[in-house]
Amino acid sequence: MSEPVVTRIAPSPTGFMHIGTARTALFNWLFARGRGGKFLLRIEDTDRARSTPEATEAILDGMRWLGLDWDGDVVSQFERADRHAEVARAMLAQGTAYKCFSTQEEIQAFREAAKAEGRSTLFLSPWRDVPETEHPDAPYVIRLKAPRTGETVIEDKVQGTVTFRNDQLDDMVLLRSDGTPTYMLAVVVDDHDMDVTHVIRGDDHLSNAARQVQIIHAMGWPVPVYAHIPLIHGPDGKKLSKRHGALGVSEYAAMGYPAAAMRNYLARLGWSHGDDELFTDAQALEWFDLSGIGRSPARLDLKKLDHVSGWHIAQMEDDALLAATGDYLARTGQPALSQAQKDGLLTAMYCLKDRARTLPDLLEKGQFVLSSRPIRPDEKSAAALTDVSRGILSELTAQLQNASWTRDALEGTLTSAAEAHGLKFGQLASPLRAALAGRAATPSVYDMMLVLGRDESLARIDDASRP
Ligand code: GLU
Repeated sequence: MSEPVVTRIAPSPTGFMHIGTARTALFNWLFARGRGGKFLLRIEDTDRARSTPEATEAILDGMRWLGLDWDGDVVSQFERADRHAEVARAMLAQGTAYKCFSTQEEIQAFREAAKAEGRSTLFLSPWRDVPETEHPDAPYVIRLKAPRTGETVIEDKVQGTVTFRNDQLDDMVLLRSDGTPTYMLAVVVDDHDMDVTHVIRGDDHLSNAARQVQIIHAMGWPVPVYAHIPLIHGPDGKKLSKRHGALGVSEYAAMGYPAAAMRNYLARLGWSHGDDELFTDAQALEWFDLSGIGRSPARLDLKKLDHVSGWHIAQMEDDALLAATGDYLARTGQPALSQAQKDGLLTAMYCLKDRARTLPDLLEKGQFVLSSRPIRPDEKSAAALTDVSRGILSELTAQLQNASWTRDALEGTLTSAAEAHGLKFGQLASPLRAALAGRAATPSVYDMMLVLGRDESLARIDDASRP
């Protein structure tokens, strides 16, 4: 049996969860969960200035909202500093690393001289082969004794074989003179200790992979499978930035996209399965594979997101939709729905969910069932309430009193009322929408009347018939 898959997402707390991080997390989650493996979360919080509890919480919140559950405890990279230092010291003992006593000034002087002489400015430490007995009692860093010749090769599942010349990689620092580990060492040690088998991350980390593999080789540890995915670009093909719109996952939550839609949309940003655009989690879990990740950057396309979102809203179970709506209202600081409003929304859901692209869209369409009398028509729908239309509504109230409250019977009554006044049905529907919902864009008048029931519908129509 092959070893169990273990993936991880290793975000640095930056204050918010970037959509690119969310996409990387999703890919790792899909890959692990689709294979019965583990998905781990490590916070790369060694930059103490940025790593506030709030910044970490922003990541956890993004993960939870997206429904990307992780196994075990959240790992803090910072808290593992002693372990990182221990590995650096073990490398020292094994002779795969060395103490370097060069000062910043000496390194600077080396670089300047190299530049002046037209040589590579890559620092070559004079301490690489100096025996311990000749070491001064002075501050030092621990550097990797990296191979000086040959190549470091990454067999990447997305980028293919990527080769780095060793003479272009310097002996990187593993442990600083204050005893703190460098990022490069920390990532390797953490991935190893967490038994990570597959490293799926942005291709901005590709050159780091070469350095990390050098440390892995020095430790004789197994090299994980790498998949460096192209970063997300804006619709104009340029690197994603604020001017392209929302960058944070929480902003998408606040726009009212259901998390399931976001997962579907993010999965398609850089990964494909034939022509499938719309799919469920179960399908994504079954289909997701590293071979489906493309080599060119995916472009963010909010129109497409709307489309994906509309499909998911239509697919979702009513209860789940109601829960997502509650979450949306809470996130955006809006009042929660009362029990009566929840009940009403559930009754109306069948005629709302097919046409809503987002949760606020759904709420807007469901406004008729969320509002209570007196209905105050907005400006657009109020225009449909004229003396003439009020008269017609008044007549209708009487006719509907006796109609049986079924779609067929209501259709019959409204159609003949329109005919009796020489109106097209649409001309009758506008004042009815104003009466029932106070809005111009609503579900069909029949659906609204069926959802509201006879008494409430008649009361609203009666209200509107009076100036
Ligand atoms: N902390 C890095 C980031 O936020 C990710 C490192 C990794 O995945 O190896 O970009």
